[in-house]
Parts: sequence; structure tokens; C-alpha cells
Amino acid sequence: MPLHSDKRCGFVTIMRGCNNFCSYCIVPYVRGRERSRPYDDILKDVQQALNMGLRDITLLGQNVNSYLWQDISFPRLLRKLNELEGLYRLRFVTSHPKDMSDELIGVMRDCDKVCEHIHLPMQSGSSAVLERMNRGYSYEHYRSRIKKAT
Ligand code: SF4
Repeated sequence: MPLHSDKRCGFVTIMRGCNNFCSYCIVPYVRGRERSRPYDDILKDVQQALNMGLRDITLLGQNVNSYLWQDISFPRLLRKLNELEGLYRLRFVTSHPKDMSDELIGVMRDCDKVCEHIHLPMQSGSSAVLERMNRGYSYEHYRSRIKKAT
């Protein structure tokens, strides 16, 4: 069931939990491991939101860009939803820098309804600190993602 905040914006959860175990974070322990929702269920929720007149949809997940259901990856999910009649804008939050692939950035470029808007937590500008935080990426990787996207 989509949550909706006003007459135009809807929020649809596509995955829950997290596998990343950053050293300071409780989420994997309290919300469990990553579980992606079936594509058909997400489609039903988005379609329901559109039927309610919502035009701006945000996909939600702890680590939304690691979504995977059968052969449907997150970039593929965005491409499919981009085709829906009545949808004006598609956003997502929160992304993990290690999963911000070239393919995903390409989808943001190519799909007219996918907003050019990334919420990408930086956490630290030091690779040594990022390693201690068990973030799974370096400062250089983060920079490369920003460079690729801009
Ligand atoms: S990726 Fe986010 S939710 Fe997952 S362990 Fe790290 S800080 Fe917590």
C-alpha cells in the first residue's frame, strides 16, 4: 500500500533491511537483512498511487539501489516504471555509494521521468575513516560517482 503525503506525491517501499553492517549502525540488527519486494507488488502500489492522482512517486528503501528481484535490478525497475502512463516524476532514496553503478547513472540520464536528483550519503572524505566505518567504498570511488553523474 503506497503512503501518500499530499495530492501529488506518493511513497512506495521497494525493499527493507540492510546487509552492509557499517560499524556504527544498528539497522541490520533491528530491521534484518535486505529483502526486495516482488516487482508485481511494487507495480500494483505505484499504479494505485497513480490512480489516486499522485504524479510524483518516490521509491523507498534502506539501500534502494541494491534492489534485486529475480532478474529485475534497480536500474531495470526504474526503466519499467518510467513507462507508466500518468507518472510525471520518479525519485528514490536512499542510495548507497558502492551501489551507484554506471548503469544506474545511465538510466537517470535516459529515462525522462527519473529525476536527476541523487541522495548519496558521503559520511567522510577520508578513505581510512570510511574503511573504519566499514562503508565499502573509498573517497576516490565516491568522487568518481559524483564525476560520472555530473
Ligand atoms: S548502509 Fe546505511 S542502513 Fe546499512 S548499515 Fe550502513 S548506515 Fe546502516
